[in-house]
Amino acid sequence: MKPNGHFGPYGGQYVAETLMAPLAELAEAYGQAKRDGAFQREYHEILRDYVGRESPLTVCRRLSESLGGARIVLKREDLNHTGAHKVNNTVGQALLAKRMGKKRLIAETGAGMHGVATATVAALLGMPCDVYMGAIDIKRQAPNVERMRLLGARVIAVEEGSATLKDAMNEALRDWVANCDDTFYVIGTVAGPYPYPEMVRDFQRVIGDEARRQCLEKFGRLPDQAIACVGGGSNAMGLFAGFLDDREVKLVGVEAGGKGLATGEHAASINGGRLGVLHGAKTMLLQTDAGNIIDTYSVSAGLDYPGVGPEHCYLHDSGRAEYSVICDDEAIDAFDRLCRCEGIIPALESSHALAEAIKRAPALPKEAILLVNLSGRGDKDMENIIAYKKAHGRA
Ligand SMILES: *Cc1c(COP(=O)(O)O)cnc(C)c1O
Repeated sequence: MKPNGHFGPYGGQYVAETLMAPLAELAEAYGQAKRDGAFQREYHEILRDYVGRESPLTVCRRLSESLGGARIVLKREDLNHTGAHKVNNTVGQALLAKRMGKKRLIAETGAGMHGVATATVAALLGMPCDVYMGAIDIKRQAPNVERMRLLGARVIAVEEGSATLKDAMNEALRDWVANCDDTFYVIGTVAGPYPYPEMVRDFQRVIGDEARRQCLEKFGRLPDQAIACVGGGSNAMGLFAGFLDDREVKLVGVEAGGKGLATGEHAASINGGRLGVLHGAKTMLLQTDAGNIIDTYSVSAGLDYPGVGPEHCYLHDSGRAEYSVICDDEAIDAFDRLCRCEGIIPALESSHALAEAIKRAPALPKEAILLVNLSGRGDKDMENIIAYKKAHGRA
């Protein structure tokens, strides 16, 4: 990474002049916190005693046997408090907010998972929390809206534009410009202007660091491939960070292909998008010829970010990571198989990564290890899955 926060041509700070000072303050504060042993100790203590880390590795014996090839091994982020990886990052950012003397947290959320993870740590640390959410998403994600409210957060409906995630992102940035003296903007993935992409990656790299050590302990060697789903890219970047220097470990990101790339109804920013500016950074994103952001589609609401973290674009171009696409029906098949073979109900997002591993395993030798990041649990997806199966005659 270059000092101005670029990964090759991607990243940077494409924001209003008024945000340059708060971003500089944040970068400075984060740089100090990163090197401060007391800060790191408090962060890891909360991860241990509150989030429940470390999360285990689980070998999928029956699933792997049924495929007749590589062993599929899961990194169990679904077992974290709040049921997904997102809390690793909100713990880190909320602690940083406290350290910077900020009194209030704001966030934006699409499917509501980041909103819940932010509201959770706001309650833990006793900070008021406002979450911006598109009015359409508020209707689609009612249970998460209720969760945020129970946790004491205020959910602010955004009626502008298409009333979805990208509009909520604009409103959150606007709030931050107006209130940056006392307010900390908690971004939920490895996107946004510098320093967010590297800061969020650092707070999620506990996934990859643990998984690397656990693999060595359990198998005496590294995995052959590390596979993770990519929405904005935080669970994938967290996993990849642990293996970036191990050139022999293939890194595989999996984007949501929705109804298929050709239909235009997908969320695959790297495979199906173009270079543009979103959320304060230059990155690959889904946009019209006129440069307007397109609303994404996936059966999995959490992969709905219309762009992707800039570091992923860089890893794609450099060839260090590859990015494939899994469609709705393949993700649902993988979901069913994990439920029935292993007794684990995965999040639909994570089911995309699992589907990619299921595709790859049969062609690989029995000794091969495919490490899949199980980014979250599927309880939140029950209604969606039932509706999808009904609509496709699979109930
Ligand atoms: C939000 C979410 C994702 C996608 O976000 P990334 O930043 O790409 O990790 C994936 N899995 C689960 C369970 C999520 O909640």
